[in-house]
Amino acid sequence: MNYDHILIRYGELALKGKNQKFFIRTLRSNVQQALSDYKGLSIKGQRDHMYILLNGEDPYPIIERCKDIFGIQSFSLAMKVNNDEESIKEGTLEAIKKEEGETFKVTCKRPNKEFPKSSQEMNRLLGGHILRNTEGWEVDVHQPDAAIRVEIRHDATYITSGRTEGKGGLPVGSTGKSLLMMSGGIDSPVAGYLTMKRGVKLEAIHFHSPPFTSERAKQKVEDLAQSLTKFGGDVTVHYVPFTELQQKIFKNVPEYYGMTVMRRVMMRVSEQLAKQHDILSLATGESLGQVASQTMESMNAINEVTNYPIIRPLVAMDKNEIINIAKEIDTYDISIRPYEDCCTIFVPKQPKTRPKREKILELEASVDFTQEINEAIDQVETVVYKNNANHKQDSFDDLL
Ligand code: ATP
Ligand code: MG
Repeated sequence: MNYDHILIRYGELALKGKNQKFFIRTLRSNVQQALSDYKGLSIKGQRDHMYILLNGEDPYPIIERCKDIFGIQSFSLAMKVNNDEESIKEGTLEAIKKEEGETFKVTCKRPNKEFPKSSQEMNRLLGGHILRNTEGWEVDVHQPDAAIRVEIRHDATYITSGRTEGKGGLPVGSTGKSLLMMSGGIDSPVAGYLTMKRGVKLEAIHFHSPPFTSERAKQKVEDLAQSLTKFGGDVTVHYVPFTELQQKIFKNVPEYYGMTVMRRVMMRVSEQLAKQHDILSLATGESLGQVASQTMESMNAINEVTNYPIIRPLVAMDKNEIINIAKEIDTYDISIRPYEDCCTIFVPKQPKTRPKREKILELEASVDFTQEINEAIDQVETVVYKNNANHKQDSFDDLL
């Protein structure tokens, strides 16, 4: 008898009342997608656990891949046996033979109350069976080397041991969609990752200013989007040509207010594009006090142009904390490649750190960006990056 299943525990998802079925279905589909190159697996989402039936596949690479999927609290290897005492005894014995150490504990749960023995009775029975049939093992209920769990359910009994932690969070796609404002920097990909952690499906918007920004700068964004796909499936990126707008801003607005106005225009474009795609929120990598555009005054002034909810997972994080996550999710090395971003090219030497709202409104009253905003949106290039495919897909335009 062998471990023939992987058991997946849901964590927070289990608390979601009536929506539970939807959350489980979403998680199941995400797991299925991440494992689509395995043909023989069967994935069952039940109310309190999910099981992957291995059909002879090696469980460890599968667990490794599923560790990147949000909505999973932990994994264990599981053996499915019949609901009779003899099979359960035999399975438990097999399970302990695969363990190393000197002390063990058996913990039995019995959701199936029709089973004739209580959990306590089963603990004693199975513990005794192990002691009689093995050598060198002793019981330790407090800190055992091997913890064998036995769950007697209606369909069968599952015997599990070991536990690998998952990432927690909610299954991507279960809480809606957000448009991530993504630069090539360190912060926004981390913000995207944390937004996905709360079950959000991402699309991204990137402003670039050719010929002032290079193809290599764009390549950074492509690589970042590609790295995010392993956490949330396909990521669609909308590339917005920003050169004309930036030139118009810096021609018509005094230099020290240029950055604030530029950010306001970015927000307006992002909101408009989000609306076009039925996306209900924006997400950014802003972190309070980090740079001039992220002082309380700047955030207030920039935020004023939209009443869309803006998800800012990094707002209260230190740069070091952000960098640590960037390293963990493998975006850091891409982000630090030294290519220019549109914001760094046009950035004034002394941007206003405490912009005044009245002053901005006065400046913007004499220059109208609406036409250029509409043109930029018309010229958006949209590319979908796919999980498991290490190359760029065709743009929508090419497919039409
Ligand atoms: P990041 O590391 O994400 O670039 P940052 O610390 O450099 O952030 P800013 O340059 O002030 O901060 O940008 C703040 C936020 O504005 C970014 O996190 C991102 O969400 C958005 N942003 C900046 N530049 C762009 C861009 N070219 N395209 C899309 N969004 C951008
Ligand atoms: Mg930046």
